[in-house]
Amino acid sequence: MVNLPDIISIELPDGQKYDQPTGLFINNEFIPSIKKTTWTSINPATEEENATVYCATEEDVDNAIGVARGAFKSTWKKFPAGERSKLILKLADLIDANKLLLAGIEAYDSGKPKMTNCLYDIEDVANVFRYYGGWADKIQGKTIPIDGKHLSYTIHEPHGVVGQIIPWNYPLDMLAWKIAPAIAAGNTVVLKTSELTPLSALYFGKLIVEAGIPPGVVNILTGTGSVVGKYLAGHPGIDKVAFTGSTKVGKLVQSLASTNLNSVSMETGGKSPAIVFDDANIDKTLYWTAMGIFYNSGQVCSATSRILVQDTIYDEFVERFREFSEKSYRCGDPFSDAGVPEDDVTIIGPQISGSQKTVILEYIESGQLQGARLILGGCEQPVDLKKGYYVQPTIFADVTPEMKIFKEEIFGPVVTITKFSTTEEAIELANRTEYGLGGSIFTKDLAKAHLVSSDLEIGTIWVNSSNESSPQVPFGGVKMSGFGRELGEYSLQLYTQVKSITINFE
Ligand code: NAD
Repeated sequence: MVNLPDIISIELPDGQKYDQPTGLFINNEFIPSIKKTTWTSINPATEEENATVYCATEEDVDNAIGVARGAFKSTWKKFPAGERSKLILKLADLIDANKLLLAGIEAYDSGKPKMTNCLYDIEDVANVFRYYGGWADKIQGKTIPIDGKHLSYTIHEPHGVVGQIIPWNYPLDMLAWKIAPAIAAGNTVVLKTSELTPLSALYFGKLIVEAGIPPGVVNILTGTGSVVGKYLAGHPGIDKVAFTGSTKVGKLVQSLASTNLNSVSMETGGKSPAIVFDDANIDKTLYWTAMGIFYNSGQVCSATSRILVQDTIYDEFVERFREFSEKSYRCGDPFSDAGVPEDDVTIIGPQISGSQKTVILEYIESGQLQGARLILGGCEQPVDLKKGYYVQPTIFADVTPEMKIFKEEIFGPVVTITKFSTTEEAIELANRTEYGLGGSIFTKDLAKAHLVSSDLEIGTIWVNSSNESSPQVPFGGVKMSGFGRELGEYSLQLYTQVKSITINFE
């Protein structure tokens, strides 16, 4: 039992000063956890303590769900749709107005470079809220003709109280993808952040209040997966569960939610391919394939972590990809990127934690033991970065499908390159994984791009790019990468259910 101050004054490494709330965000207030349990977040770039905040336990989940239920029944469900829209649009404007601070908090807590990584995320966060703010008063059912003696119609209703669990790799972006469509559709929310990145999500609660969103509509808990995540996923007071995280935990969450026969959506892991055909524009392909794996320090669920290259250009591509990656990506302090990358170098921040770094280094070792050709990186931080959980951008060539590094999600800046000769072989290799989240195709032949797209067992495909995302375009996976689509109009389907009403005229 520890009593924390309500607010901690923090000065970020870039000189920005701000007040960090320490409490759980429930009913538009920051309150201590009932048992006064706490969690200390660690800065991945310095390995030092960032801040200690309250950490929820089961009692706090009960409290938050009760509050969210009350707000759903008494306020949000009945709130005029146009007014709901206005408040969400106002929230989007507030996110824009605070974007440098939010980017700074996120860089401090997650180790992601501030200007070239976090700032993009925060702009997306604002855009996602703006997009769904626009939808809030346009969620409509249908009228259905039957026989002239009846009128049938549907309404698309919110589920009620939604439980949401998110990972650490995009703390505010994942929060936005979850909260924005849910509240636009009239649900209230209890969201659990990753315990590794609690700060920006709690600060975000201040903007919820400032936007005028009524108390209890959005509730944000920090806490561990084994206690808060588990309890939230199986809680009978929850009407729908949305999860983003690893496939292993996703399976657990789905089984917990099944005890209440709850609607579930899952965004889980990936091992996404990038197929490079010999007619591709190689300069552009180098840019996109390097970005597709090294951006966000490789901590992207849809990172194109397996590059498949046609044999006729294989040797040339491998050498040029190594040169390009070495020149363009460098480990560096998350606050050292000025905005316009120096000499076109993109900074790679540290991995989220020491244990994640260890896992990545073990994968690198296994690649070497299994005979893959290491052509770049392969080690931890460069000598000028004495602290921090850094792993250098790492490339393995001549990787075969039996190797562990070809099959398993590494979730770090490690990419494999494999040779193919025919289109059929490329498709077969691309699909040779339990995952099916993202994938890229590089070719000038659009007919081939369409045909290959249709044969890939993948939910999200980019042609001649990688990992671009827009609020309007659905994102999600198949196979062990999950089900349900976030973003776009499709996400509203996750957060509404159809009620049919039939009126008998006779
Ligand atoms: P994780 O599965 O360890 O944790 C995700 C969330 O689940 C966290 O909030 C965690 O506290 C919680 N959790 C952990 N154990 C739990 C349990 N027993 N019950 C309920 N909740 C529990 O994943 P992570 O390490 O935070 O994130 C990395 C993973 O997330 C990668 O596999 C990545 O591919 C995936 N991811 C997927 C997407 C996508 O859109 N498909 C996006 C981002 C990340």
